[in-house]
Amino acid sequence: MTASPITGVDAEARVNEAIDKLLADHPPASTEPKVFWGAQFDAGLAWVDFEQGSGGLGVSPKYRELVTRRLNDADAPMWNRIANIIGIGMGAGVLHTHGTAEQKERWLRPMFVVDEVWCQLFSEPGAGSDVAGLATRAVKDGDEWIINGQKVWTTLAHLAKWGMVVTRTDPEQPKHKGLTYFIVDMEADGVDIRPLYQITGEAEFNEVFFDDARIPDANRIDDVGAGWRVAMTTLMNERVAIGGNTPPRNSGTIGVAMDTWKQSGSGDVGDRRELARLWGEVEAMRLTAIRATENMQAGVPGPEGSTGKLAWADLNKEVTAFTVGMMGFDGATIPEGYTLEPTVYDTRMTERILSPQRWFLRSRANSIEGGTSEIMRNILGERVLGLPGEPRVDKNVPWSEVPRG
Ligand SMILES: Cc1cc2nc3c(=O)[nH]c(=O)nc-3n(C[C@H](O)[C@H](O)[C@H](O)COP(=O)(O)OP(=O)(O)OC[C@H]3O[C@@H](n4cnc5c(N)ncnc54)[C@H](O)[C@@H]3O)c2cc1C
Repeated sequence: MTASPITGVDAEARVNEAIDKLLADHPPASTEPKVFWGAQFDAGLAWVDFEQGSGGLGVSPKYRELVTRRLNDADAPMWNRIANIIGIGMGAGVLHTHGTAEQKERWLRPMFVVDEVWCQLFSEPGAGSDVAGLATRAVKDGDEWIINGQKVWTTLAHLAKWGMVVTRTDPEQPKHKGLTYFIVDMEADGVDIRPLYQITGEAEFNEVFFDDARIPDANRIDDVGAGWRVAMTTLMNERVAIGGNTPPRNSGTIGVAMDTWKQSGSGDVGDRRELARLWGEVEAMRLTAIRATENMQAGVPGPEGSTGKLAWADLNKEVTAFTVGMMGFDGATIPEGYTLEPTVYDTRMTERILSPQRWFLRSRANSIEGGTSEIMRNILGERVLGLPGEPRVDKNVPWSEVPRG
């Protein structure tokens, strides 16, 4: 059972005190980013709602925004959240909810300081929206599991040390029941990673093939057969990481739009009005995300993550299209050139991704990654509005008997 988080004036004072001390002992301007992140983790300011010793202070998740705001105001390095977005945004939540004490101790700190990058191995060629239908097999062999199969669209696999993988361990159970979740060593024998190039020219994601790869049973998350439950925690955290995070005001793509407008010197009233409208919508979404975090009780996000993700996907496309539209012909070219290369997630990536043209191209994926907008609407319809569910003819049928194309 997760203990109730500490809230109120005491909790806020405690968080502020920890931030004051962190900034005084490790001034961001003169501290190496990795050293700063290590100190941030040790001070309980990585994920304030996690237990002490696991990068948290055991306070309500609503104080995450306070940490982000104050560290951002102090110009502290925060790009670990980009460099290890899947680990910090999703893997941490999985370990917090389902991990053992040993697993948290082993994985959380190296994740936060970006010594070990994480990736997520859910989607397969035959299982995307219907990820519970996946076919990658894991078979027990003593203290290990042997896994075989193929994953696809695996963001950051080429840089990752650890991967969150969902496998089928019992094909005779219905599809949601025969799944087990592991953390796989991406550098192990039998793991083959091949880049896939995107519209941006970068290979941000990959195909991953498992050919008799071995995973120790100690890397299993939760019980055998509980993989769907852990996968749902991952996806809920993913939707919040994509659409429900609370970046500082005027940052991200709306910041790029504002800079582009200023640089263009455009006196166009229509542009100005449209920029103001988009800014208002982005700000409303940001504030709504903050309120949703405040409502989140025990750190496991609910369907509100899907609402934010759905709305953000459409709005981000609008913002980036408006930005390149203001640039005229320049908006149709990539200033640094269009080359095919694997994405490198470091400070360099922060510079590159800030090119408005790349933001525009990258935003096309927003309504697909982390679950498509159609799937988000289904979740909202069923879980928030209480509408009748989709027909699910294979729900109680053993996975091995479900016809597959
Ligand atoms: C940039 C990017 C990064 C990604 N990173 C990862 C990653 O790191 N790890 C990972 O595991 N996956 C990743 N994915 C994969 C992503 O999760 C899937 O692409 C997504 O879930 C959709 O699955 P699919 O591509 O198989 O499409 P399909 O499921 O085949 O869907 C095709 C179309 O049918 C629609 N559709 C399907 N089912 C329904 C339904 N029941 N009702 C209404 N419409 C439906 C979909 O909305 C879509 O338009 C990434 C994708 C992108 C674009």
